[in-house]
Amino acid sequence: MIKNRILRYNELMSNKKAKHKGDNQPKRLSFPADAKIHSWLSLLLDAYYTVDKGIVEAVKAESRKGKKLACARGCSSCCKTHSTIPVYPVELVGLSWYVTEKIEGPERDFVKVQLRNYRENDPCPFLIEGVCLVHPMRPISCRQFNVFGKPCAEGEDPYYTRREDVLSPIRKYVDRAFFVMLPFYGVQSEAQRWKIIESGAVHQVVKLMQTCNWRSLAEKMDEFDSIMGTAKSGIEDASTDHMVHGKNYG
Ligand code: SF4
Ligand code: SF4
Repeated sequence: MIKNRILRYNELMSNKKAKHKGDNQPKRLSFPADAKIHSWLSLLLDAYYTVDKGIVEAVKAESRKGKKLACARGCSSCCKTHSTIPVYPVELVGLSWYVTEKIEGPERDFVKVQLRNYRENDPCPFLIEGVCLVHPMRPISCRQFNVFGKPCAEGEDPYYTRREDVLSPIRKYVDRAFFVMLPFYGVQSEAQRWKIIESGAVHQVVKLMQTCNWRSLAEKMDEFDSIMGTAKSGIEDASTDHMVHGKNYG
């Protein structure tokens, strides 16, 4: 089942077996070889780690008040029905990289179809059999959306129906995450970065998951597959040639 493959892969990536969002201590994801090629990757992973630490702390604080987290594995109506999920450009780059270069097997073909056929306000294209394919690289807004009490009813957005049950992220962690990400947009100066965060200007670049051109991501994945396929057959040809004719390519 694709769902079980995705769950296993997500656990492997996150190196944790949390039953509920926010359980356990978060772990910073690490892709050392890719981070050498993509300078934005470390920024993004640091930002996600910061956000995750803030969520754990916020959930703990609410638990001490007797609140129980409702979000649990397999609960995904928010991914199906929410129509305004914010995503920042560096996060889109991260999602694009992750699905293009890290997702393999039947889920790769599956997500390509979903991306290709995506229409505005469809369920999130990364939701497969009720599981988030990109869980380790999901955007900040998905990481932060945690609900207490009872799970959301089909189609319910508790932000509007029971705001008091929606986790309020701890501001210092969120600000720190944006501070870490801002160099992606060419803003290096620390003073400038804090100014952009405090003024709220950092949110001017935000997009919505539902209005992204996901078809172009499917095309990018096709292109990647074709390049990798060509490279693989080139290597196979070369090694066959080497075995047959004893050629030395060194
Ligand atoms: S936000 Fe609501 S639907 Fe989404 S995982 Fe939490 S309880 Fe389930
Ligand atoms: S990225 Fe993952 S968590 Fe976020 S809406 Fe899509 S399926 Fe849900």
